[in-house]
Amino acid sequence: MIMEGMSASNSLTESSSENQSIQVRPRVEGSEPIVNREGRALLQFKSPRVKQPPVHLADLSLAERQDKLKELGLPGYRAKQLSTHYFQHFTTNPEDMSDLPKERRGELVEALMPTLLTKVKQLTTDNGDTIKFLWRLFDGSLVESVLMRYPGRITLCVSSQCGCGMNCPFCATGQAGLTRNMSTAEILDQIVQANRVIAAGELGGLRRDGGHDAERVTNIVFMGMGEPLANYKRVMNAVHRMAAESPEGLGMSARNITLSTVGLVPAMKKLADEGIPITFALSLHAPDDELRDEMIPVNSRWKVDEALDAAYNYYVVTGRRVSIEYALIKNMNDHAWRAELLAKKLNQRGRGWVHVNPIPLNPTPGSVWTASEKDVAAVFIDTLLAAGIPTTLRDTRGQEIDGACGQLAAAD
Ligand code: SF4
Repeated sequence: MIMEGMSASNSLTESSSENQSIQVRPRVEGSEPIVNREGRALLQFKSPRVKQPPVHLADLSLAERQDKLKELGLPGYRAKQLSTHYFQHFTTNPEDMSDLPKERRGELVEALMPTLLTKVKQLTTDNGDTIKFLWRLFDGSLVESVLMRYPGRITLCVSSQCGCGMNCPFCATGQAGLTRNMSTAEILDQIVQANRVIAAGELGGLRRDGGHDAERVTNIVFMGMGEPLANYKRVMNAVHRMAAESPEGLGMSARNITLSTVGLVPAMKKLADEGIPITFALSLHAPDDELRDEMIPVNSRWKVDEALDAAYNYYVVTGRRVSIEYALIKNMNDHAWRAELLAKKLNQRGRGWVHVNPIPLNPTPGSVWTASEKDVAAVFIDTLLAAGIPTTLRDTRGQEIDGACGQLAAAD
């Protein structure tokens, strides 16, 4: 037994030390990288000016919905009834709306509930607890969302943009560029449609031990297509409406909404001042500018220390602990010295303000974007833990249906 233990630890040391000397560089695979005139990864912060989706009641505040109904010659209280159908009963079918005048229902639905997302595909994992949706928007754009059941909660990973302008070389979405920002209602409709699917009993994975099962989406992660902070106004409207009580919104807990960014520093500062206690995650993936400049092109604009300062500021202003997302990629960013550097940078700013979530990638033979060796990942995590940084290996549900983060590239 002792010999076995020794050899295991010897091979662990060998493999880890071998890993210290190899540096795999990030590169785009499978398509041409999108570059600017200087040959650097192109960043698109602004949505191209294209036709916008029709206005939906979820784009409007309750007061604005009431005004709209008055314009249509109906009393304002009808707005509450219509909103309850959408946000609480998840229906847009006039026949379900028996509390509204029969002769006006069709017209109201047409005016305030235009179809925003048409389901193109729905893929379910074998055990039924994860569903990936592919949606077609009014202009033909394709976006995805992923629904996951866990004991006592249901999480929906939502998209916030059609494509993405951040051009991360590992991300299929980024390689397609930015088509446009999604509207507030398009973001929210992903949740309403998912709730409809849950209510129809299509999401499996129910507990057999009699424990509590959620009946609707309880948690949101903005980790689908797009950089949410690049679509700040519409995303924040959607967040406020998620947290607003029915009939204004969905009545979800703001704490259960996680917004993840690659580090748009000015928007991170603005977010801290919003006064809404959502969970904030920074997709860091490298603690040194040399590597992060290549892995996350937006790092050429705002460096690691600036992004960490803004994340720390979020904690100071909101009192909410921040998550650092770190995809462990073999011989690229998984070196023990990088774990030490990360721990040092986090501890320099204070204790107890941050939590690191290393994310295991799918093993992808032949790709530079492949999973770290298990023992190397273990050394990385242990190094952070030893430095006093709370660290948890994240669950990557949905890999089987390509629904894990960075894998969302809508293709029909
Ligand atoms: S990883 Fe996120 S921010 Fe980067 S290109 Fe993909 S969707 Fe955009």
